[in-house]
Amino acid sequence: MAENENKAYKDFIRTIIDEDLKIGKNDGRVHTRFPPEPNGYLHIGHAKSICLNFGIAEEYGGLCNLRYDDTNPVKEDVEYVDSIKEDVRWLGFDWDDREFYASDYFDKLYDYAVQLIKDGKAYVDDLSQEEIREYRGTLTEPGKESPYRNRTVEENLDLFTRMRDGEFKDGEKVLRAKIDMTSGNINMRDPAVYRIKHASHHRTGDKWCIYPMYDFTHCLSDSIEGITHSICTLEFEDHRPLYDWFLEQLRVHHPQQIEFARLNLSYTIMSKRKLLSLVKEGKVSGWDDPRMPTICGLRRRGYTPESIRGFAERIGVAKRDSVVDIALLEHILRDDLNKRADRVMAVLNPLKVVIENYPEGEVEELNAINNPEDESAGMRKIPFSREIFIERDDFREDPPKKFFRLAPGREVRLKHAYFIKCEDVIKDDNGEIVELRCTYDPATKSGEASDGRKVKGTLHWVSTAHAIDAEVRMYDRLFKTENPGANGDFMDDLNPDSLDVLAGCKVEPKLTHANPGESFQFLRKGYFCVDTDSTPEKLVFNQTVGLRDSWAKIEGKKK
Ligand code: ATP
Ligand code: MG
Repeated sequence: MAENENKAYKDFIRTIIDEDLKIGKNDGRVHTRFPPEPNGYLHIGHAKSICLNFGIAEEYGGLCNLRYDDTNPVKEDVEYVDSIKEDVRWLGFDWDDREFYASDYFDKLYDYAVQLIKDGKAYVDDLSQEEIREYRGTLTEPGKESPYRNRTVEENLDLFTRMRDGEFKDGEKVLRAKIDMTSGNINMRDPAVYRIKHASHHRTGDKWCIYPMYDFTHCLSDSIEGITHSICTLEFEDHRPLYDWFLEQLRVHHPQQIEFARLNLSYTIMSKRKLLSLVKEGKVSGWDDPRMPTICGLRRRGYTPESIRGFAERIGVAKRDSVVDIALLEHILRDDLNKRADRVMAVLNPLKVVIENYPEGEVEELNAINNPEDESAGMRKIPFSREIFIERDDFREDPPKKFFRLAPGREVRLKHAYFIKCEDVIKDDNGEIVELRCTYDPATKSGEASDGRKVKGTLHWVSTAHAIDAEVRMYDRLFKTENPGANGDFMDDLNPDSLDVLAGCKVEPKLTHANPGESFQFLRKGYFCVDTDSTPEKLVFNQTVGLRDSWAKIEGKKK
Protein backbone atom coordinates (compact mmCIF):
# COMPACT_ATOMS: atom_id res chain seq x y z
CA MET A 1 0.00 0.00 0.00
CA ALA A 2 1.18 3.50 -0.66
CA GLU A 3 0.95 6.27 1.87
CA ASN A 4 -1.46 5.93 4.69
CA GLU A 5 -4.27 8.24 3.68
CA ASN A 6 -6.61 7.47 6.55
CA LYS A 7 -5.54 10.14 8.94
CA ALA A 8 -6.04 13.81 8.52
CA TYR A 9 -3.42 14.57 11.14
CA LYS A 10 -0.12 12.71 10.92
CA ASP A 11 2.06 12.30 13.96
CA PHE A 12 5.81 12.54 13.49
CA ILE A 13 6.27 8.77 13.24
CA ARG A 14 3.72 8.36 10.47
CA THR A 15 5.23 11.37 8.75
CA ILE A 16 8.64 9.64 8.75
CA ILE A 17 7.09 6.47 7.35
CA ASP A 18 5.30 8.43 4.61
CA GLU A 19 8.61 10.02 3.62
CA ASP A 20 10.35 6.63 3.56
CA LEU A 21 7.66 5.22 1.33
CA LYS A 22 7.87 8.19 -0.98
CA ILE A 23 11.58 7.63 -1.60
CA GLY A 24 11.11 3.89 -1.92
CA LYS A 25 13.09 2.97 1.19
CA ASN A 26 12.81 -0.68 2.32
CA ASP A 27 11.18 -1.54 -1.02
CA GLY A 28 7.99 0.05 0.26
CA ARG A 29 7.69 -2.31 3.21
CA VAL A 30 6.49 -1.29 6.68
CA HIS A 31 7.43 -3.80 9.35
CA THR A 32 7.30 -3.00 13.07
CA ARG A 33 7.56 -5.10 16.22
CA PHE A 34 6.37 -5.04 19.81
CA PRO A 35 9.27 -6.24 21.97
CA PRO A 36 8.23 -6.91 25.59
CA GLU A 37 10.60 -8.39 28.10
CA PRO A 38 8.68 -11.29 29.70
CA ASN A 39 9.44 -10.19 33.25
CA GLY A 40 5.98 -9.01 34.25
CA TYR A 41 2.47 -8.39 32.99
CA LEU A 42 1.75 -5.73 30.40
CA HIS A 43 0.35 -2.40 31.55
CA ILE A 44 -1.47 0.52 29.98
CA GLY A 45 1.87 2.01 28.88
CA HIS A 46 2.62 -1.12 26.90
CA ALA A 47 -0.86 -0.82 25.41
CA LYS A 48 0.18 2.52 23.93
CA SER A 49 3.18 0.87 22.32
CA ILE A 50 1.10 -2.10 21.11
CA CYS A 51 -1.52 0.17 19.54
CA LEU A 52 1.22 2.21 17.90
CA ASN A 53 3.22 -0.70 16.47
CA PHE A 54 0.34 -2.95 15.46
CA GLY A 55 -1.76 0.05 14.46
CA ILE A 56 0.89 1.39 12.08
CA ALA A 57 1.36 -2.04 10.50
CA GLU A 58 -2.41 -2.29 9.99
CA GLU A 59 -2.74 1.19 8.51
CA TYR A 60 0.11 0.74 6.04
CA GLY A 61 -0.73 -2.82 5.08
CA GLY A 62 2.49 -3.93 6.75
CA LEU A 63 3.38 -6.42 9.46
CA CYS A 64 4.07 -6.27 13.18
CA ASN A 65 5.99 -8.99 15.01
CA LEU A 66 5.56 -10.02 18.59
CA ARG A 67 9.06 -10.45 19.90
CA TYR A 68 10.00 -11.47 23.38
CA ASP A 69 13.08 -9.66 24.42
CA ASP A 70 14.23 -12.47 26.70
CA THR A 71 17.92 -11.92 27.33
CA ASN A 72 17.76 -11.87 31.10
CA PRO A 73 17.39 -15.50 32.25
CA VAL A 74 16.85 -14.62 35.90
CA LYS A 75 13.73 -12.46 35.84
CA GLU A 76 11.78 -14.06 33.04
CA ASP A 77 9.04 -16.62 33.14
CA VAL A 78 6.59 -18.48 30.86
CA GLU A 79 3.70 -17.20 32.97
CA TYR A 80 4.54 -13.75 31.64
CA VAL A 81 5.00 -14.99 28.07
CA ASP A 82 1.49 -16.45 28.09
CA SER A 83 -0.12 -13.42 29.69
CA ILE A 84 1.46 -11.11 27.11
CA LYS A 85 -0.05 -13.09 24.24
CA GLU A 86 -3.46 -13.08 25.87
CA ASP A 87 -3.33 -9.33 26.45
CA VAL A 88 -2.19 -8.39 22.94
CA ARG A 89 -4.90 -10.60 21.46
CA TRP A 90 -7.52 -9.15 23.78
CA LEU A 91 -6.60 -5.66 22.60
CA GLY A 92 -7.53 -6.89 19.15
CA PHE A 93 -4.17 -7.42 17.46
CA ASP A 94 -2.71 -10.41 15.70
CA TRP A 95 0.88 -11.37 14.92
CA ASP A 96 -0.08 -14.45 12.82
CA ASP A 97 2.88 -16.81 12.96
CA ARG A 98 5.37 -14.09 13.79
CA GLU A 99 6.00 -14.91 17.43
CA PHE A 100 9.72 -14.52 17.95
CA TYR A 101 12.17 -14.73 20.81
CA ALA A 102 15.48 -12.94 21.05
CA SER A 103 16.73 -16.17 22.63
CA ASP A 104 16.09 -17.94 19.31
CA TYR A 105 18.85 -15.75 17.92
CA PHE A 106 21.48 -16.63 20.53
CA ASP A 107 23.48 -18.69 18.03
CA LYS A 108 23.41 -15.94 15.43
CA LEU A 109 24.22 -13.30 18.02
CA TYR A 110 27.18 -15.33 19.17
CA ASP A 111 28.43 -15.45 15.58
CA TYR A 112 27.98 -11.70 15.24
CA ALA A 113 30.03 -11.19 18.39
CA VAL A 114 32.79 -13.40 16.97
CA GLN A 115 32.64 -11.31 13.79
CA LEU A 116 33.15 -8.14 15.80
CA ILE A 117 36.16 -9.70 17.55
CA LYS A 118 37.66 -10.79 14.23
CA ASP A 119 37.21 -7.27 12.90
CA GLY A 120 39.03 -5.88 15.92
CA LYS A 121 35.79 -4.25 17.14
CA ALA A 122 35.35 -6.15 20.39
CA TYR A 123 37.57 -7.41 23.20
CA VAL A 124 37.38 -9.48 26.34
CA ASP A 125 37.90 -7.39 29.45
CA ASP A 126 39.04 -8.71 32.84
CA LEU A 127 38.15 -5.58 34.80
CA SER A 128 35.54 -6.11 37.49
CA GLN A 129 32.14 -4.48 37.14
CA GLU A 130 33.16 -1.87 39.65
CA GLU A 131 36.43 -1.08 37.86
CA ILE A 132 34.59 -0.79 34.58
CA ARG A 133 32.27 1.73 36.19
CA GLU A 134 35.25 3.73 37.49
CA TYR A 135 36.98 3.65 34.11
CA ARG A 136 33.84 4.77 32.33
CA GLY A 137 34.14 8.39 33.45
CA THR A 138 31.21 10.72 33.88
CA LEU A 139 29.07 13.06 31.83
CA THR A 140 31.74 15.73 32.23
CA GLU A 141 34.88 13.57 32.27
CA PRO A 142 36.08 11.22 29.54
CA GLY A 143 36.59 7.54 30.35
CA LYS A 144 39.87 5.63 30.54
CA GLU A 145 40.83 2.68 28.39
CA SER A 146 41.00 -0.72 30.01
CA PRO A 147 44.45 -2.30 30.17
CA TYR A 148 42.92 -5.31 28.40
CA ARG A 149 41.63 -3.27 25.48
CA ASN A 150 44.42 -4.09 23.10
CA ARG A 151 44.43 -7.85 23.33
CA THR A 152 45.04 -9.57 20.02
CA VAL A 153 42.21 -10.96 17.97
CA GLU A 154 43.48 -14.51 18.67
CA GLU A 155 43.55 -13.96 22.39
CA ASN A 156 40.06 -12.43 22.34
CA LEU A 157 38.67 -15.30 20.29
CA ASP A 158 40.20 -17.81 22.67
CA LEU A 159 38.92 -16.06 25.78
CA PHE A 160 35.42 -15.55 24.34
CA THR A 161 35.20 -19.24 23.44
CA ARG A 162 36.25 -20.13 26.97
CA MET A 163 33.68 -17.70 28.37
CA ARG A 164 31.06 -19.58 26.40
CA ASP A 165 32.42 -22.92 27.54
CA GLY A 166 31.93 -22.02 31.17
CA GLU A 167 35.55 -21.63 32.26
CA PHE A 168 34.91 -18.42 34.14
CA LYS A 169 32.71 -17.27 36.94
CA ASP A 170 29.94 -14.65 36.69
CA GLY A 171 31.47 -11.20 36.25
CA GLU A 172 35.01 -12.50 35.85
CA LYS A 173 35.15 -11.42 32.22
CA VAL A 174 33.00 -9.47 29.84
CA LEU A 175 33.01 -8.93 26.09
CA ARG A 176 33.00 -5.24 25.21
CA ALA A 177 32.62 -3.33 21.99
CA LYS A 178 35.74 -1.32 21.11
CA ILE A 179 34.38 2.09 20.31
CA ASP A 180 35.56 5.23 22.07
CA MET A 181 36.24 5.77 25.77
CA THR A 182 36.21 9.53 25.28
CA SER A 183 32.87 9.72 23.52
CA GLY A 184 30.52 12.39 24.77
CA ASN A 185 27.86 9.67 24.83
CA ILE A 186 28.56 7.31 27.70
CA ASN A 187 26.73 4.49 25.89
CA MET A 188 29.53 4.56 23.32
CA ARG A 189 32.33 4.10 25.86
CA ASP A 190 33.03 0.47 25.08
CA PRO A 191 29.65 -0.95 26.16
CA ALA A 192 29.29 -4.57 27.23
CA VAL A 193 28.23 -7.01 24.51
CA TYR A 194 28.19 -10.32 26.38
CA ARG A 195 28.26 -11.07 30.08
CA ILE A 196 28.76 -14.31 31.97
CA LYS A 197 25.71 -15.54 33.83
CA HIS A 198 25.52 -19.12 35.00
CA ALA A 199 21.75 -19.36 34.98
CA SER A 200 19.10 -21.45 33.26
CA HIS A 201 17.01 -19.69 30.67
CA HIS A 202 13.28 -20.38 30.34
CA ARG A 203 13.74 -21.35 26.71
CA THR A 204 17.38 -22.30 26.13
CA GLY A 205 17.84 -24.12 29.43
CA ASP A 206 21.53 -24.58 30.31
CA LYS A 207 22.85 -24.25 26.79
CA TRP A 208 24.38 -20.86 27.53
CA CYS A 209 26.28 -19.36 30.41
CA ILE A 210 26.93 -16.13 28.54
CA TYR A 211 24.08 -13.84 27.56
CA PRO A 212 24.04 -10.94 25.08
CA MET A 213 23.31 -7.44 26.38
CA TYR A 214 20.15 -5.56 25.47
CA ASP A 215 21.69 -2.99 23.11
CA PHE A 216 23.50 -5.64 21.11
CA THR A 217 20.53 -8.00 21.01
CA HIS A 218 17.86 -5.49 20.17
CA CYS A 219 19.25 -3.94 17.00
CA LEU A 220 20.34 -7.31 15.65
CA SER A 221 16.99 -8.94 16.39
CA ASP A 222 15.34 -6.07 14.51
CA SER A 223 17.76 -6.60 11.66
CA ILE A 224 17.32 -10.38 11.51
CA GLU A 225 13.54 -9.96 11.34
CA GLY A 226 13.73 -7.35 8.59
CA ILE A 227 12.11 -4.68 10.72
CA THR A 228 11.90 -1.32 8.94
CA HIS A 229 10.91 1.02 11.78
CA SER A 230 12.02 0.18 15.30
CA ILE A 231 9.79 2.30 17.51
CA CYS A 232 10.83 2.66 21.14
CA THR A 233 10.54 5.03 24.06
CA LEU A 234 12.54 8.19 24.58
CA GLU A 235 15.06 6.81 27.05
CA PHE A 236 16.64 4.91 24.16
CA GLU A 237 17.42 8.07 22.24
CA ASP A 238 20.95 8.11 23.69
CA HIS A 239 21.33 4.47 22.71
CA ARG A 240 20.56 5.09 19.05
CA PRO A 241 24.22 5.76 18.08
CA LEU A 242 25.06 2.35 19.52
CA TYR A 243 22.09 0.74 17.75
CA ASP A 244 23.41 2.18 14.52
CA TRP A 245 27.05 1.34 15.30
CA PHE A 246 26.50 -2.40 15.70
CA LEU A 247 24.51 -2.62 12.49
CA GLU A 248 27.04 -0.58 10.53
CA GLN A 249 30.02 -2.59 11.79
CA LEU A 250 28.32 -5.85 10.92
CA ARG A 251 27.05 -4.55 7.55
CA VAL A 252 23.55 -6.00 7.97
CA HIS A 253 19.99 -4.78 7.28
CA HIS A 254 19.61 -1.51 9.14
CA PRO A 255 16.18 -0.60 10.56
CA GLN A 256 15.54 2.95 11.70
CA GLN A 257 15.09 3.51 15.41
CA ILE A 258 12.45 6.13 16.23
CA GLU A 259 11.76 7.27 19.78
CA PHE A 260 8.50 8.57 21.26
CA ALA A 261 7.49 9.69 24.75
CA ARG A 262 6.28 6.94 27.02
CA LEU A 263 2.86 7.15 28.58
CA ASN A 264 2.70 8.45 32.13
CA LEU A 265 -0.67 8.53 33.87
CA SER A 266 -1.58 10.48 36.96
CA TYR A 267 -2.17 8.44 40.15
CA THR A 268 -0.50 5.47 38.48
CA ILE A 269 2.83 3.66 38.56
CA MET A 270 3.96 1.77 35.50
CA SER A 271 7.29 0.27 36.33
CA LYS A 272 6.99 -3.51 36.19
CA ARG A 273 9.42 -3.78 39.08
CA LYS A 274 7.16 -1.66 41.28
CA LEU A 275 4.01 -3.43 40.12
CA LEU A 276 5.68 -6.75 40.95
CA SER A 277 6.44 -5.55 44.46
CA LEU A 278 2.77 -4.60 44.97
CA VAL A 279 1.88 -8.17 44.03
CA LYS A 280 4.64 -9.78 46.09
CA GLU A 281 3.90 -7.76 49.20
CA GLY A 282 0.19 -8.50 48.95
CA LYS A 283 -0.83 -4.86 48.56
CA VAL A 284 -3.09 -6.07 45.75
CA SER A 285 -4.65 -9.47 45.12
CA GLY A 286 -2.50 -10.15 42.05
CA TRP A 287 -1.39 -8.77 38.69
CA ASP A 288 -5.05 -8.73 37.67
CA ASP A 289 -6.32 -6.90 40.73
CA PRO A 290 -8.91 -4.48 39.30
CA ARG A 291 -6.98 -1.56 40.79
CA MET A 292 -3.83 -2.40 38.83
CA PRO A 293 -2.91 -0.50 35.63
CA THR A 294 -2.07 -3.82 34.01
CA ILE A 295 -4.05 -4.83 30.95
CA CYS A 296 -5.42 -7.88 32.81
CA GLY A 297 -6.33 -5.64 35.76
CA LEU A 298 -8.12 -3.17 33.51
CA ARG A 299 -9.92 -6.04 31.76
CA ARG A 300 -11.09 -7.44 35.08
CA ARG A 301 -12.16 -3.97 36.12
CA GLY A 302 -14.44 -3.77 33.10
CA TYR A 303 -12.36 -1.80 30.62
CA THR A 304 -13.10 -2.66 27.00
CA PRO A 305 -10.38 -3.13 24.36
CA GLU A 306 -12.11 -0.38 22.37
CA SER A 307 -11.73 2.09 25.21
CA ILE A 308 -8.01 1.39 25.56
CA ARG A 309 -7.44 1.64 21.83
CA GLY A 310 -9.51 4.79 21.73
CA PHE A 311 -7.41 6.22 24.53
CA ALA A 312 -4.16 5.39 22.73
CA GLU A 313 -5.44 7.10 19.61
CA ARG A 314 -6.63 10.14 21.52
CA ILE A 315 -3.33 10.76 23.35
CA GLY A 316 -1.30 10.23 20.16
CA VAL A 317 2.48 10.20 20.16
CA ALA A 318 4.90 12.98 20.95
CA LYS A 319 8.59 13.61 21.40
CA ARG A 320 8.23 15.19 24.85
CA ASP A 321 7.42 13.46 28.12
CA SER A 322 4.19 14.45 29.81
CA VAL A 323 1.63 13.10 32.24
CA VAL A 324 -1.84 12.21 31.01
CA ASP A 325 -4.76 12.82 33.36
CA ILE A 326 -6.31 9.48 34.30
CA ALA A 327 -9.70 11.22 34.07
CA LEU A 328 -9.27 11.16 30.29
CA LEU A 329 -8.96 7.38 30.25
CA GLU A 330 -12.06 7.10 32.44
CA HIS A 331 -13.93 9.55 30.23
CA ILE A 332 -13.28 7.46 27.12
CA LEU A 333 -14.24 4.28 28.94
CA ARG A 334 -17.49 5.82 30.18
CA ASP A 335 -18.32 6.94 26.66
CA ASP A 336 -17.79 3.46 25.34
CA LEU A 337 -19.76 1.73 28.10
CA ASN A 338 -22.57 4.23 27.73
CA LYS A 339 -23.12 2.84 24.24
CA ARG A 340 -22.81 -0.84 25.04
CA ALA A 341 -23.82 -1.50 28.66
CA ASP A 342 -27.40 -2.47 29.49
CA ARG A 343 -29.01 -0.52 32.29
CA VAL A 344 -30.17 -2.46 35.33
CA MET A 345 -31.21 -1.60 38.86
CA ALA A 346 -29.02 -2.58 41.78
CA VAL A 347 -29.35 -1.42 45.35
CA LEU A 348 -25.96 -1.28 47.02
CA ASN A 349 -27.07 -0.37 50.52
CA PRO A 350 -30.63 -1.63 50.84
CA LEU A 351 -33.47 -0.21 52.92
CA LYS A 352 -36.75 -2.10 52.91
CA VAL A 353 -39.92 -0.35 51.80
CA VAL A 354 -43.40 -1.84 52.33
CA ILE A 355 -46.08 -0.44 50.05
CA GLU A 356 -49.10 -0.75 52.29
CA ASN A 357 -51.85 -0.28 49.70
CA TYR A 358 -50.31 -2.72 47.22
CA PRO A 359 -52.08 -6.12 47.28
CA GLU A 360 -50.20 -8.79 49.18
CA GLY A 361 -48.89 -11.63 47.00
CA GLU A 362 -49.33 -9.72 43.76
CA VAL A 363 -46.44 -9.44 41.29
CA GLU A 364 -46.49 -7.20 38.26
CA GLU A 365 -44.05 -7.41 35.35
CA LEU A 366 -43.13 -3.89 34.36
CA ASN A 367 -41.49 -2.92 31.11
CA ALA A 368 -38.03 -1.44 31.20
CA ILE A 369 -35.81 -0.23 28.41
CA ASN A 370 -32.36 -1.85 28.38
CA ASN A 371 -30.32 0.91 26.85
CA PRO A 372 -31.66 4.29 25.77
CA GLU A 373 -28.49 4.73 23.68
CA ASP A 374 -29.08 1.54 21.75
CA GLU A 375 -32.54 0.61 20.60
CA SER A 376 -31.41 -2.82 19.47
CA ALA A 377 -30.75 -3.70 23.12
CA GLY A 378 -34.53 -4.04 23.51
CA MET A 379 -36.73 -4.21 26.59
CA ARG A 380 -36.98 -6.42 29.63
CA LYS A 381 -39.54 -7.18 32.32
CA ILE A 382 -38.87 -6.33 35.94
CA PRO A 383 -40.97 -7.67 38.78
CA PHE A 384 -42.70 -5.21 41.11
CA SER A 385 -44.36 -6.20 44.36
CA ARG A 386 -45.49 -4.96 47.77
CA GLU A 387 -42.00 -5.03 49.27
CA ILE A 388 -39.02 -3.44 47.61
CA PHE A 389 -35.53 -2.24 48.49
CA ILE A 390 -34.37 1.27 47.84
CA GLU A 391 -30.96 2.81 48.48
CA ARG A 392 -30.57 3.74 52.14
CA ASP A 393 -29.18 7.15 51.32
CA ASP A 394 -32.16 7.92 49.09
CA PHE A 395 -34.12 8.50 52.28
CA ARG A 396 -33.60 11.22 54.88
CA GLU A 397 -35.67 11.69 57.94
CA ASP A 398 -34.70 15.35 58.08
CA PRO A 399 -33.99 16.21 54.48
CA PRO A 400 -31.62 19.13 53.98
CA LYS A 401 -32.45 21.76 51.38
CA LYS A 402 -32.02 20.48 47.85
CA PHE A 403 -32.50 16.89 48.91
CA PHE A 404 -35.18 15.82 46.43
CA ARG A 405 -35.39 12.16 47.28
CA LEU A 406 -37.62 10.38 49.76
CA ALA A 407 -38.52 11.84 53.18
CA PRO A 408 -41.49 11.55 55.55
CA GLY A 409 -44.64 12.72 53.79
CA ARG A 410 -42.82 13.18 50.50
CA GLU A 411 -43.58 11.58 47.15
CA VAL A 412 -41.03 10.29 44.62
CA ARG A 413 -41.05 8.27 41.42
CA LEU A 414 -39.79 4.70 41.26
CA LYS A 415 -37.97 4.17 37.99
CA HIS A 416 -40.07 2.18 35.50
CA ALA A 417 -42.87 1.99 38.12
CA TYR A 418 -45.13 4.16 40.28
CA PHE A 419 -45.03 7.19 42.53
CA ILE A 420 -44.71 6.25 46.19
CA LYS A 421 -45.21 8.42 49.24
CA CYS A 422 -43.53 7.86 52.61
CA GLU A 423 -46.13 7.47 55.34
CA ASP A 424 -44.14 6.08 58.25
CA VAL A 425 -40.61 5.28 59.43
CA ILE A 426 -39.97 2.10 61.44
CA LYS A 427 -36.91 1.94 63.71
CA ASP A 428 -35.31 -0.74 65.83
CA ASP A 429 -34.46 -0.42 69.54
CA ASN A 430 -31.27 1.45 68.69
CA GLY A 431 -33.12 4.07 66.71
CA GLU A 432 -31.81 2.71 63.42
CA ILE A 433 -34.25 2.92 60.51
CA VAL A 434 -35.16 -0.61 59.42
CA GLU A 435 -38.14 -0.07 57.18
CA LEU A 436 -40.27 2.55 55.49
CA ARG A 437 -44.02 2.34 55.13
CA CYS A 438 -45.26 3.88 51.92
CA THR A 439 -48.33 4.06 49.72
CA TYR A 440 -48.35 4.07 45.94
CA ASP A 441 -50.59 5.75 43.41
CA PRO A 442 -51.84 3.13 40.89
CA ALA A 443 -52.57 5.92 38.41
CA THR A 444 -48.87 6.78 37.97
CA LYS A 445 -47.74 3.64 36.16
CA SER A 446 -46.76 5.66 33.10
CA GLY A 447 -44.26 7.50 35.25
CA GLU A 448 -46.46 10.61 35.45
CA ALA A 449 -49.45 11.56 37.58
CA SER A 450 -52.80 12.02 35.78
CA ASP A 451 -53.50 15.23 37.71
CA GLY A 452 -50.22 16.68 36.55
CA ARG A 453 -48.55 16.86 40.00
CA LYS A 454 -44.79 16.65 39.85
CA VAL A 455 -42.17 14.80 41.87
CA LYS A 456 -38.54 15.81 41.93
CA GLY A 457 -36.81 12.52 42.60
CA THR A 458 -36.65 9.23 40.71
CA LEU A 459 -35.25 6.29 42.63
CA HIS A 460 -33.98 2.90 41.54
CA TRP A 461 -35.27 -0.12 43.44
CA VAL A 462 -35.59 -3.91 43.37
CA SER A 463 -38.40 -6.17 44.54
CA THR A 464 -37.32 -7.92 47.77
CA ALA A 465 -38.78 -11.29 46.85
CA HIS A 466 -37.07 -11.27 43.46
CA ALA A 467 -33.79 -9.53 44.22
CA ILE A 468 -30.55 -11.48 43.99
CA ASP A 469 -27.81 -11.06 46.59
CA ALA A 470 -24.53 -9.77 45.34
CA GLU A 471 -21.18 -8.57 46.55
CA VAL A 472 -20.06 -5.32 45.00
CA ARG A 473 -16.43 -4.21 45.16
CA MET A 474 -16.11 -0.45 45.10
CA TYR A 475 -12.78 1.04 44.07
CA ASP A 476 -10.95 4.25 44.58
CA ARG A 477 -7.54 5.13 43.14
CA LEU A 478 -4.77 2.77 44.24
CA PHE A 479 -2.59 5.77 45.08
CA LYS A 480 -3.68 8.87 46.89
CA THR A 481 -1.13 11.15 45.23
CA GLU A 482 -0.95 12.23 41.60
CA ASN A 483 2.68 11.24 41.23
CA PRO A 484 3.21 8.22 43.49
CA GLY A 485 6.70 8.03 44.94
CA ALA A 486 7.54 11.64 44.09
CA ASN A 487 8.35 12.30 47.73
CA GLY A 488 9.98 9.02 48.69
CA ASP A 489 8.72 5.46 48.73
CA PHE A 490 5.77 4.92 46.39
CA MET A 491 4.39 2.38 48.88
CA ASP A 492 3.77 5.25 51.32
CA ASP A 493 1.41 6.80 48.80
CA LEU A 494 -0.92 3.81 48.63
CA ASN A 495 -4.53 4.77 49.28
CA PRO A 496 -5.69 2.74 52.31
CA ASP A 497 -9.31 3.09 51.14
CA SER A 498 -8.89 1.91 47.57
CA LEU A 499 -11.14 -1.11 48.08
CA ASP A 500 -14.51 -1.21 49.80
CA VAL A 501 -16.37 -4.51 49.69
CA LEU A 502 -20.13 -4.14 49.93
CA ALA A 503 -21.76 -7.41 50.92
CA GLY A 504 -25.53 -7.77 50.87
CA CYS A 505 -26.26 -5.72 47.79
CA LYS A 506 -29.50 -6.49 45.96
CA VAL A 507 -29.68 -6.70 42.20
CA GLU A 508 -32.28 -7.37 39.53
CA PRO A 509 -33.01 -11.06 38.88
CA LYS A 510 -31.84 -10.69 35.29
CA LEU A 511 -28.26 -10.55 36.54
CA THR A 512 -28.28 -14.17 37.76
CA HIS A 513 -27.34 -15.20 34.25
CA ALA A 514 -24.66 -12.58 33.67
CA ASN A 515 -21.24 -13.90 32.74
CA PRO A 516 -17.88 -12.81 34.12
CA GLY A 517 -16.68 -9.78 32.20
CA GLU A 518 -20.16 -8.58 31.28
CA SER A 519 -20.76 -4.89 31.94
CA PHE A 520 -23.84 -3.06 33.14
CA GLN A 521 -24.82 0.39 34.11
CA PHE A 522 -26.34 0.26 37.57
CA LEU A 523 -28.80 3.12 37.23
CA ARG A 524 -27.63 6.24 39.09
CA LYS A 525 -24.56 4.35 40.39
CA GLY A 526 -22.19 3.90 37.50
CA TYR A 527 -20.73 1.07 35.47
CA PHE A 528 -20.10 -2.34 36.96
CA CYS A 529 -18.95 -5.66 35.59
CA VAL A 530 -19.23 -9.24 36.71
CA ASP A 531 -15.98 -10.29 38.36
CA THR A 532 -14.07 -13.46 37.53
CA ASP A 533 -14.73 -14.60 41.11
CA SER A 534 -18.46 -14.52 40.46
CA THR A 535 -20.50 -17.74 40.46
CA PRO A 536 -24.25 -18.34 40.05
CA GLU A 537 -24.28 -19.04 43.82
CA LYS A 538 -22.41 -15.87 44.67
CA LEU A 539 -22.56 -12.93 42.33
CA VAL A 540 -19.61 -10.56 42.52
CA PHE A 541 -19.39 -7.22 40.73
CA ASN A 542 -16.56 -4.75 40.26
CA GLN A 543 -17.22 -1.08 40.09
CA THR A 544 -15.71 -0.06 36.77
CA VAL A 545 -16.20 3.70 36.78
CA GLY A 546 -18.68 6.15 38.26
CA LEU A 547 -21.09 8.29 36.27
CA ARG A 548 -19.57 11.62 37.17
CA ASP A 549 -17.30 12.76 34.41
CA SER A 550 -14.52 14.88 35.86
CA TRP A 551 -12.84 15.08 32.44
CA ALA A 552 -15.89 16.68 30.86
CA LYS A 553 -15.70 19.21 33.69
CA ILE A 554 -12.03 19.93 33.00
CA GLU A 555 -12.72 20.30 29.27
CA GLY A 556 -15.73 22.48 29.99
CA LYS A 557 -13.61 24.86 32.07
CA LYS A 558 -11.05 25.17 29.29
CA LYS A 559 -13.69 26.28 26.80
P1 ATP B 1 8.79 -1.11 32.56
O1 ATP B 1 9.56 0.15 32.81
O2 ATP B 1 7.37 -1.06 32.94
O3 ATP B 1 9.46 -2.34 33.09
P2 ATP B 1 9.90 -1.70 30.02
O4 ATP B 1 10.15 -0.64 29.02
O5 ATP B 1 11.08 -2.24 30.69
O6 ATP B 1 8.76 -1.21 30.99
P3 ATP B 1 9.40 -3.72 28.10
O7 ATP B 1 8.80 -5.05 28.30
O8 ATP B 1 10.82 -3.64 27.73
O9 ATP B 1 9.12 -2.92 29.41
O10 ATP B 1 8.53 -2.88 27.08
C1 ATP B 1 8.08 -3.36 25.85
C2 ATP B 1 7.79 -2.19 24.96
O11 ATP B 1 6.79 -1.36 25.54
C3 ATP B 1 9.02 -1.35 24.75
O12 ATP B 1 9.12 -1.00 23.39
C4 ATP B 1 8.77 -0.14 25.61
O13 ATP B 1 9.40 1.00 25.08
C5 ATP B 1 7.24 -0.03 25.59
N1 ATP B 1 6.76 0.64 26.80
C6 ATP B 1 6.99 0.29 28.07
N2 ATP B 1 6.43 1.18 28.92
C7 ATP B 1 5.81 2.10 28.16
C8 ATP B 1 5.06 3.29 28.43
N3 ATP B 1 4.81 3.69 29.68
N4 ATP B 1 4.56 3.98 27.38
C9 ATP B 1 4.79 3.59 26.12
N5 ATP B 1 5.49 2.50 25.80
C10 ATP B 1 6.02 1.76 26.79
MG1 MG C 1 12.58 -2.61 28.61
